[in-house]
Amino acid sequence: SGKFFVGGNWKCNGTKDSISKLVSDLNSATLESDVVSTSVLLIPVIQLLANISNVLPSTITDVVVAPPFVYIDQVKNSLTDRIEIAAQNCWTGKGGAFTGEISVEQLKDLGCKWVVLGHSERRHVIGEDDQFIGKKAAYALSEMLPQVGITSLLSYEPVWAIGTGKVASPEQAQEVHIAARDWLSKNVSAEVASKTRIIYGGSVNGGNCAELAKQEDIDGFLVGGASLKGPEFATIINSVT
Ligand code: 13P
Repeated sequence: SGKFFVGGNWKCNGTKDSISKLVSDLNSATLESDVVSTSVLLIPVIQLLANISNVLPSTITDVVVAPPFVYIDQVKNSLTDRIEIAAQNCWTGKGGAFTGEISVEQLKDLGCKWVVLGHSERRHVIGEDDQFIGKKAAYALSEMLPQVGITSLLSYEPVWAIGTGKVASPEQAQEVHIAARDWLSKNVSAEVASKTRIIYGGSVNGGNCAELAKQEDIDGFLVGGASLKGPEFATIINSVT
């Protein structure tokens, strides 16, 4: 369903120095595919990633990294523009008296074109629920719609596979992805189901990405730990040709 998607979720990791090294590794990596992002939204059934960018030319693989908020500017100013920037969260509406929050407008101001919403860590550790995440998604979409054509994308991340080194087998992931696509077909529309990229996350690494990428209904990856290692993340990006 459309271009392959590879996202690197850096979570709450990094320092100015370690991020500078990671960016430099990514800048010097050989990426087989010509990686320029287009606009995408992941719907919050399990996890949601909203793109808040202008539409860029279509190529082979969309590649996006999500640094912690405080390093977005550093990354934006130093990372090759072949790779786009996501935030890991945003507020439910316009900015104002909301201590500690970051608005969609501020993300756009930094040139940040995507946002991850509804990650299981925000649900289970921080306590966000569907309603709250839904508000964020709706606002991010409403802000983006005037500028971008948005398509849906959904992400499957079994919680037992996140950060554990226990990856779902390609067959297991494929089975869930088909079930998610069926759900979309029955509950939204056949067109949305066929156009939605369903991406897999949970212990994806340089060794298992190629087999996973072969599965028909795996349309991309959301990578945690392995995205903090530039050469390995490049291998994952290059797993799709
Ligand atoms: P790991 O790749 O570290 O398992 O994390 C997956 C994830 O949560 C990506 O968002």
